[in-house]
Formats: sequence, structure tokens, C-alpha cells
Amino acid sequence: MILDTKTSAEQTIKDLEEVVKKLHSQPHLTIIMVGDNSASAVYVRNKIKTCESIGIKATLLHFAQSWTDELIHEIHRLNADETVHGILVQSPLPSDIPAQEVFDAIHPLKDVDGFSSANIARLYSGDDTGLVPGTPKGIMKILFEYFQMTNDEWRMTNDGEDKTSNLAGKHAVVIGKSTIVGKPLSLMLMHAGVTVTVCHSRTKDLAIHTKMADIIISAVGQKHLIASDMVRPGALVIDVGINVAEEEGRKLSGDCDTDNIATIADITPVPGGVGPMTIAMLLSNVLLAHELQWKN
Ligand code: NAD
Repeated sequence: MILDTKTSAEQTIKDLEEVVKKLHSQPHLTIIMVGDNSASAVYVRNKIKTCESIGIKATLLHFAQSWTDELIHEIHRLNADETVHGILVQSPLPSDIPAQEVFDAIHPLKDVDGFSSANIARLYSGDDTGLVPGTPKGIMKILFEYFQMTNDEWRMTNDGEDKTSNLAGKHAVVIGKSTIVGKPLSLMLMHAGVTVTVCHSRTKDLAIHTKMADIIISAVGQKHLIASDMVRPGALVIDVGINVAEEEGRKLSGDCDTDNIATIADITPVPGGVGPMTIAMLLSNVLLAHELQWKN
């Protein structure tokens, strides 16, 4: 079956809108973009539009070109600005700018992408309650909903007090080991009691691993990487990949042979699967950043 995760993402955004209405101050996200990558421009427009649709203020600082020092200076200015609660530096940055150095300049409580070393260290140490990257956070939400768990039930599992959940003990195969999806997701899955196998471009015979999985999560960016004969009947497949077919009017597809896999397993669609949930989790992180700053 093809899963309807879009409705869940829309509901999440509606719930966040209700939270925004009750706040005493307006949450404010500032996005920094460098250069004129057309795909990034579309993503940024989408993020701003969705923020504004629920009452979050969104400001874009667009530099045609920039230098590391200038960017870091700008980030320090935003860190000190109490009216800015979230700072996001849109990836990819030009190749001559060291991205991690820039992410590390963002105050950890304003780091709504969760890419700073401070927030990565927090996740590594087992704490998923802070600002964590939106895509893996969204995938975990999809899994909690699929296995019908609340976040509190999951935290109990994480603390080792309750082993009765449906998600703990499952075997997930994560394909891709990037710092924005594969690696943080593998940590979050482990914290939820899942047995994790991580595959990547040097993995020999991917199918041997995927055929054993209860959950397959593909974050590669390669069309038709996962065929139906690589999936165990009854498994759950989360397709994170985004592939653009220029020759078919920029038609989007994921990493998986969705229609055939859907006859034997459950699968998230592309477009309309992980993507909308990622945006919802960005908004959730802006509200979390706002809350964390009011607490401190
Ligand atoms: P990346 O290029 O940083 O990482 C790709 C990973 O795939 C690498 O770890 C690589 O080792 C692995 N890989 C490459 N070829 C492989 C193969 N043949 N078999 C197994 N593994 C292989 O990419 P990323 O930033 O992690 O993004 C991955 C995909 O997910 C892209 O298509 C991206 O557009 C998409 N994405 C979607 C969302 C969303 O919100 N839906 C968010 C982030 C990324």
C-alpha cells in the first residue's frame, strides 16, 4: 500500500498553527542563502511560505556571493538578536565555504536544522529532545505513527522502561550515510530500540541486507535503486530519495519502484511522502527553538 503521509504532515502543520496562536511573541526564522542554486531557491521559498501560513515570521538574507568571515559575522549578529529565534543556512553552500564551520557559528538553541556540532553531540549522546535535523525527525514521526506510538511511549522505550512497543526490536536497513539523513537517523533508530544496518555506496550486494529488513529507509538519490524483489513481503519502505527527470518536465521520483513494491509492502510516495513531513519538522523546530530561548 502507498501510505498517506501527506495528510499527517498537513495535520501536524495545523496543530503547530494552534500552538503559534497561543504564543505571546511571534516566532521568527531567518534563512541565509548564498548563491543562486535554483533548487535551493525553490526549497527556501517553500519554507518561507509554509512558515508564514501558520504565523511564523520568516526573513530571507540572500547573498549573491559571500565569504566565510562575512557569513559568520552575520550569524553572530543574528545570535545576539533576541527577535530571531531560528537561524537556517540553506545547503549547499558554495564549495569554497566550509559548511560545518558556518553551522557551528549558529547558537545551538537557534540551530533549527540541528547541524551544529553541539547539537550533533547531544544527539550522539542519546538525547533526541533537542534540535535534531528535520528529515530524520520526520521519518521517526512517520514510524511512530505507523507503529501507533506516542512520543512519550517512545521516550519510555528509549529509557529502557517499556519494551512493549512495536517499533523496538525491529530491524531497519538505512541506505545512505550522510550527515543530514543517514547518520542522524541511524542514531535515532538505535535510541528507539531498533536494530540498525547502515548500507552505502561501498556496500556489496545491497539486496542481501534489504531482504532481511522489517523497515527499509532509502536516502540515496538514485532512481529504481530498490526493486520489489529486494523487499520482504509485509515490510515498510520509507523512500527519502528525490530524483528529478529533466526529460519528463522535471518529474520527481524516489529511489524505489513504488508501484510494484506497494503490491507486497507499505511504502511512502515521492513526491508527497517524507518531503512534507520534513517541512513540518522544520516548523516544529522553530517553535522548539522559540520555547527553548524563552526558558533560558
Ligand atoms: P548524499 O549524496 O549526501 O548521500 C547519499 C548516500 O547514498 C551516500 O551515503 C552514499 O554512500 C549512498 N549511496 C550512493 N550510491 C549508493 C548505492 N548504489 N547503494 C547504496 N548507497 C549508495 O545525499 P543526502 O543529502 O543524504 O540525500 C539523499 C537523497 O535524499 C537525495 O536524493 C536527496 O535529494 C534526498 N533528500 C530528501 C529530503 C526530503 O525532505 N525528502 C531531505 C534530504 C535529502
